[in-house]
Amino acid sequence: MKRCDLILRSDRVVLEDTVQALAIGIEGGRIAFLAAKSLGAEADRDIDFGDRYIFPGAVDPHVHFKEPGPNTHREDWESGTRQAAAGGVTTVIEMPLSIPLTVNRPAFEAKMDIAAGKAHVDFALWAGMNAFAEGHYRELGDLGAVAYKVFLSTDPDSPRLGDYDFLRALREVASFGGLVGVHAENYDIIDNYCEKFRKENRGDGRAHLDSRPDVAEMEAVQRALLFARETGARMHICHLSSAKTADVMRFHRGRGADFTVETCHSYLTLDDSDLDRCGTRAKCNPPIRDKANREALWEMIMDGDIQMVASDHSPYVDADRELPLWESPPGLSGVDLAFPLMLDEGLNRRGLPAEELAGLISTNAARRFGLYPQKGVIAVGSDADLAVVDPDAEWAWSWRLSLGKSREKATPFEGRTIRGRILETYVRGVKVYDGLKNEVLARPGFGAFVRPVRNEDG
Ligand SMILES: [Zn+2]
Repeated sequence: MKRCDLILRSDRVVLEDTVQALAIGIEGGRIAFLAAKSLGAEADRDIDFGDRYIFPGAVDPHVHFKEPGPNTHREDWESGTRQAAAGGVTTVIEMPLSIPLTVNRPAFEAKMDIAAGKAHVDFALWAGMNAFAEGHYRELGDLGAVAYKVFLSTDPDSPRLGDYDFLRALREVASFGGLVGVHAENYDIIDNYCEKFRKENRGDGRAHLDSRPDVAEMEAVQRALLFARETGARMHICHLSSAKTADVMRFHRGRGADFTVETCHSYLTLDDSDLDRCGTRAKCNPPIRDKANREALWEMIMDGDIQMVASDHSPYVDADRELPLWESPPGLSGVDLAFPLMLDEGLNRRGLPAEELAGLISTNAARRFGLYPQKGVIAVGSDADLAVVDPDAEWAWSWRLSLGKSREKATPFEGRTIRGRILETYVRGVKVYDGLKNEVLARPGFGAFVRPVRNEDG
């Protein structure tokens, strides 16, 4: 008879291309065996979840936790990963925009130390690609950075790169096979529209959308992919919001560009009416667009043109939202919402198969960022990172449920009914979140740094 620390059983265990009734045997934090659900086995604990799903824990490739730096009143590693655990997220990949920017060895190591002392779930780190990072790319890769983030748009937190410097940086990172993540919006179009609307005293939520038209994103995606092809760089398009980019992407994919595409739950579940309703509280870059665009993004998901759904979690406090539109910082909280909203809108409303949903919220990111098969999959030898999900439970989101720090009171998601709920989250075989009590059980510092390994995709 088999023996192990923990057995989790379910009629619906989500594997890479199928859903099966299985017993998951866990030993030393890893998956020791997958067997028929009825397997006779001995374990210290043995739990049968019946027809609740067991998904691989989500791997969120795009979060901003603001620490270190002056903005930890909005979020920090402790609160951010607490919120992640509540959202079924077992690995976060954090962006390099904390202060100091994650652009060299001291900054990278300092952040790694802080996160290692505070995180409730496992974590990997992005590095920056900008003027300050020049000369440090290989060193950052050797330290374990999964990818390099570049801004083609003007951003309050990170200097953008011009075309000449972008091209040079791509060549350098391509020389050692690194991955480059792009914020793809054309700064010149946007900055001038912002200036014009500011002078016209427009401050409505829709002015934000009007200042960042589809063509600004289409042009930047097109340029980035052209540069990727020309340099051989591996690329990742962050937070795609405009479905009009689909043609451009197919053109370059058909000609050998190596890239993946991420969108966010907000672009898949909100639309421009939320800009009218919520104003600055729905401000994010790139912007929330109209309903037809939202539907077209879903088509891109179903067609495989978009491979990942990230949260782009970047919370602000109520005081930030009370600033005028042009001064209010861009970003939405949501590391705890991406997975439940994909259950609601993808699995339940649009018939997205569970195994494809697992790809979008976990496996594909783990593969692209070099964390697979340690992360992102329910397979023998992988870390036992799991989310137990009740697909039918209906609940209403409220800031009162948030385990994060900002607890902003009137996000566009306030009061939204969601069908599909995270019941329990496990990291390396340890239950870190109890959904019935909405309580994080892991101590700060339980979360561990994850280094990328090179694999067939990485
Ligand atoms: Zn971001």
